[in-house]
Amino acid sequence: LVSDASRQSATPMMEQYIEIKASNPDSLLFYRMGDFYELFFDDAVEASRALGITLTKRGQHMGHDIPMCGVPVHAADDYLQKLIGLDYRVAVCEQVEDPAEAKKRGSKSVVRRDVVRLVTPGTITEEKLLSPGEANYLMALARIKGGSEPQLALAWIDISTGIFRLAETEASRLLADVMRIEPRELILPDTLFADPELKPALDVLGRIVMPQPAVLFDSATAERRIAQYYGVTTLDGFGTYSRAELAAASAAVAYVEKTQIAERPPLGRPERESSASTLFIDPATRANLELTKTLSGDRNGSLLKALDRTVTGGGARLLAERLMSPLTDPQAIHDRLDSLEALLAEPSLRQALKEGLKQMPDMPRALSRLALDRGGPRDLGAIRQGLETAALIAGLLENRHLPRELGEALGDLKALPSTLALQLGHWLGEDLPLLKRDGGFVREGASSELDELRALRDQSRRVIAGLQLQYAEETGIKSLKIKHNNVLGYFIEVTAGNAGTMTDSDEAKSRFIHRQTMANAMRFTTPELADLESRIANAAGQALELELEAFEAMRADVVDAAEALKRGARALAVLDVAQGLAHLAEEQNYCRPTVDASVTFAISGGRHPVVEQALRRQAGTAFVANSCDLSPPSGAKLGAIWLLTGPNMGGKSTFLRQNALIAIMAQMGSYVPAESAHIGVVDRLFSRVGASDDLARGRSTFMVEMVETAAILNQATDRSLVILDEIGRGTATFDGLSIAWAAVEHLHEVNCCRGLFATHFHELTVLSEKLPRLSNATMRVKEWDGDVIFLHEVGPGAADRSYGIQVARLAGLPSSVVERARDVLAKLEDADRKNPASQLIDDLPLFQVAIRREEARRAGPSKVEAELAALNPDDMTPREALEALYALKKKL
Ligand code: ADP
Repeated sequence: LVSDASRQSATPMMEQYIEIKASNPDSLLFYRMGDFYELFFDDAVEASRALGITLTKRGQHMGHDIPMCGVPVHAADDYLQKLIGLDYRVAVCEQVEDPAEAKKRGSKSVVRRDVVRLVTPGTITEEKLLSPGEANYLMALARIKGGSEPQLALAWIDISTGIFRLAETEASRLLADVMRIEPRELILPDTLFADPELKPALDVLGRIVMPQPAVLFDSATAERRIAQYYGVTTLDGFGTYSRAELAAASAAVAYVEKTQIAERPPLGRPERESSASTLFIDPATRANLELTKTLSGDRNGSLLKALDRTVTGGGARLLAERLMSPLTDPQAIHDRLDSLEALLAEPSLRQALKEGLKQMPDMPRALSRLALDRGGPRDLGAIRQGLETAALIAGLLENRHLPRELGEALGDLKALPSTLALQLGHWLGEDLPLLKRDGGFVREGASSELDELRALRDQSRRVIAGLQLQYAEETGIKSLKIKHNNVLGYFIEVTAGNAGTMTDSDEAKSRFIHRQTMANAMRFTTPELADLESRIANAAGQALELELEAFEAMRADVVDAAEALKRGARALAVLDVAQGLAHLAEEQNYCRPTVDASVTFAISGGRHPVVEQALRRQAGTAFVANSCDLSPPSGAKLGAIWLLTGPNMGGKSTFLRQNALIAIMAQMGSYVPAESAHIGVVDRLFSRVGASDDLARGRSTFMVEMVETAAILNQATDRSLVILDEIGRGTATFDGLSIAWAAVEHLHEVNCCRGLFATHFHELTVLSEKLPRLSNATMRVKEWDGDVIFLHEVGPGAADRSYGIQVARLAGLPSSVVERARDVLAKLEDADRKNPASQLIDDLPLFQVAIRREEARRAGPSKVEAELAALNPDDMTPREALEALYALKKKL
């Protein structure tokens, strides 16, 4: 496409196109021509298919037709939205000079064009392309070699709101961290793309991963690049960051610059997020618990959906953020809970707050568009409205005793510049156009100069209407019209049938000057009309110019106030989350949890927040509340594990999940669905619930189950909460039972975590005799006439049977099969009495080897291990390595 030969044979315009396309090979090129963005060659073929628009051709290139398609500029957002949704990236190429300038250079000269912006999923700002309740993150991953271990860090930016965060990560938790933040786009150095350590995670992330040239991630220039972006000389005032964090942050900034080209969105300072302050939830758990979407990918039915009573986009985004990153610091959790308690105590304040917030436009996103010079009058309108609402809300909160979080929010609202609100109020009208070039957004009375020009313009329009009447009378042509188009300006039009009247008499000829003959009409002008024309054009042009000046002035002031506006918007989001959660707590009858640094886990009368609401909607059915107590038994320091048995459909999964969800809700600072709840902060939450095939990645159900279980047994600590459902189900009975058995022992003896373990292996219940912190619980059922009735009640003890056959009967299995199954079961149960597994508990010593190894681990590394850890093979010659090996061997 870009060979010299092809350039020579191309028209100047095609030549320009080919050159620009060559520097943007990965993006579809939207090439501006008049009122259209046009696409050529392969881009046209792809885009026409993706967008369902007509593929045509335009001219020839090297003897072949050039495929072409186009989208109108005014509808470009819709098409961009579709393309971004399909994971395309688009380079938007605009005319960057006035066509008149190009003409001056010679008749053949083409208008200069340049790519002004790359539209990628992680860097969009348009209202239409964003969903109001979700953040839109661009994320960068960087790795620094050096020291004993490579460091990994993530930086993520939402340019539509200016949020900028940083965190260190590790290869083993990379996937969890990325999934927690759910970026739209993840950039990383192309050199890391195929790294074996990261590959499994990157494979799962799939389409969002965008390798970039490694220079973008250069850590040596990172600090300078970030400082430059913020216009400061050093980052000292920002806080301290690791080298890997700096590299990731600077890559993210560089990518924003690369995609936004001429503009700089106002980014908040990079805030460091330490992994110690958030509850770690691994990706499988996040998915299994259906926090933000269900396993089938639906937002409806997720926990987020069930909790969300916010009324603003910013509030919804903050709620999602809190749900994805619950806290571990009890004090910070209390602060959030205090806000809810204060609002619950004052229903009328809460109601007023909610009504006020409903008026709130999406201020941060409007601000971003304005700063990027992509905003219009409605964005200014959003800022005005936002400031007015903020003042109103500050008024509601003023002179009250407020808990810390609400007090801080009020402070931020009061710090909003009141002069800006006055200025916007003075200039902006009520009905605002989308585009500034349409004019008409400055309020009448704001500028006397503008009012005069507008009067002149409007008056002239009336004069034209008068002229039309006059000409019609003069010529006797009733259908004579004065019309306007961009080529001729104002002109007189008569139908072809009436044209004779205008051209036959000499008098008419001297009065009406012929301009154009159409198939069925003829067009004329007169000196008076031409004169009026220029007066109107001038007045309208000058008026628009004045409006644009006013727009620029307002925009500049808004951008100057960006920092305060962002804080104010954040404060409003905090208030919205607080009012939403308070509203929910009252509506759903939730309680304030007690959260502290212990390892208590005592929930009485707990409910599943999502199932409960679903049951209520189905009217009639009430959710059966259940308690759960995993607190250390008296005398113990470590939390307990419950082994839960019961028939299928008895409510085991629901119970398991509800306890995990209650912990998450408490730690995100929400009230919880329970009569009371006392939770010692959980540092990591793991769950393995239900069996979901991962056939797309070629793993069987059993393999997935084992991979997830391995992750849990390797990572859970004595502060963790582990929820395991039906481990070992995917394999033969004895295999499965053995694995489940060993897993329970490991959780109890090595991980020492709090846990719920649901199983259909009743054999496991004997373990409670040996393991002091393990107790049995069961889902109670009633038998009635050979049928089983599920009570959904959790009680102490073990289920005596699994009721599988009764459940199968309920499901409509043919009665002949049910009968036969009963016979087979009776035989099996008979044989089972001689089953070796039943005697296991007496014969099998408890998990000794593992325990001893674990004790050794806790005692710390041996001398040899310590020395081994200090070696850095990369820095050693083969000879040195060999010598080190001999030296170590001697020490054994
Ligand atoms: P299991 O895991 O034991 O097979 P589930 O947890 O899937 O059972 O629950 C089966 C059904 O019972 C669910 O569809 C749910 O609606 C209902 N259910 C579960 N727990 C309760 C409860 N506590 N109160 C009311 N209905 C419940």
